[in-house]
Amino acid sequence: MVKREHAIIGAATVTFLGLLVIKDGEFGVEYLFLLYFFVALFYELDARFAIGAGLFLLIGAALAIQRSEALANQIAIYAYYLLAIGVVLEVVTYIEAGGEDEEEVEAQNRKEEKVKGRIIVVTSGKGGVGKTTITANLAVALAWEGNSVVVVDGDIAMPNLDIAMGVKSAPSSLREVINGKVEIKNVLYDAYEGVKVVPCSPCLDGLTERNAKKVQAIIETLTQEFDNVLLDTPPGREAITLMNRGYEIILVVNPDQASVLDALNMKTIVERKGCKVLGAVLNMVGAVKKELDIDDIEETLGVEVFAIIPQDKKIREASVHEVPFFLYTGPESKASIEIIRLARLLKRG
Ligand code: ADP
Ligand code: MG
Repeated sequence: MVKREHAIIGAATVTFLGLLVIKDGEFGVEYLFLLYFFVALFYELDARFAIGAGLFLLIGAALAIQRSEALANQIAIYAYYLLAIGVVLEVVTYIEAGGEDEEEVEAQNRKEEKVKGRIIVVTSGKGGVGKTTITANLAVALAWEGNSVVVVDGDIAMPNLDIAMGVKSAPSSLREVINGKVEIKNVLYDAYEGVKVVPCSPCLDGLTERNAKKVQAIIETLTQEFDNVLLDTPPGREAITLMNRGYEIILVVNPDQASVLDALNMKTIVERKGCKVLGAVLNMVGAVKKELDIDDIEETLGVEVFAIIPQDKKIREASVHEVPFFLYTGPESKASIEIIRLARLLKRG
């Protein structure tokens, strides 16, 4: 496709050349055509434009022939210049595309862009704030909303996402994929609402930098197959090694000072890594008096609180039953309504 601004520059240049043709062009017009060629190359102008203009001038030459043969010849020469420019530009584009048709490449890129899912990382500064609970329920809610979803347990030292998602048996896990023993497709386990779970068997030493890179490569591959790749993480620094440029982050916080300030530190660090913090989920609200209010939390973190989940014994009950609360309490509970809202916000962009 010809970009609008490129077309304008191309049109302006050709009009200028056209004016010269009409006015007579004694002074090195071929240099101006050369200039047009480089402008076209630099701005990646569509070669078809020059070819079109060339053909247009040829028609002009044919029409001018009855009035003045000299003028017609001159116009024809300029037409040939433009045709030559168009052909050379086309050849350059072809070589640059590595022999593939430009439109095919564009179509392929568009397809890839469309297919590529997003990586959403659920993390926190402090432990025990409800990351795994939120990840599992967000996964189910996103699936409920019609997305294909995979959840990956990135809490390598203390994994428990499989339990939260009700996966009973997992002979292999992310660990075996990291060690090159099995392929990722062998550790995608079925869970509620069609969500796939990549569990992890515990590795108490946590994550080395090298293994973190492997996990990144694994989750990035999953984006080709799923709309949403959700990553559950350990709290704090260990989660940071898993993050890569372009990952989108949801911070889980509780309404207390320590949790919010730790989340703020996480936000600063992940943003330095090139990740985008989408917003926060405020969990376990109403457990004690004198909690921080939402405005304070939003102001401190500098991001929006997307969902407010109450402290609810049904949520703990659900986790004992190894079922996401969204399914245990049903979609009408306050917590489920908030999770659906979060899923819809994410779906919108
Ligand atoms: P994290 O992954 O951040 O360590 P978890 O999701 O494992 O936290 O939650 C820790 C515990 O708190 C779990 O037993 C979970 O069931 C419980 N929990 C999480 N959110 C709530 C809530 N809103 N109300 C009641 N219990 C909750
Ligand atoms: Mg957890």
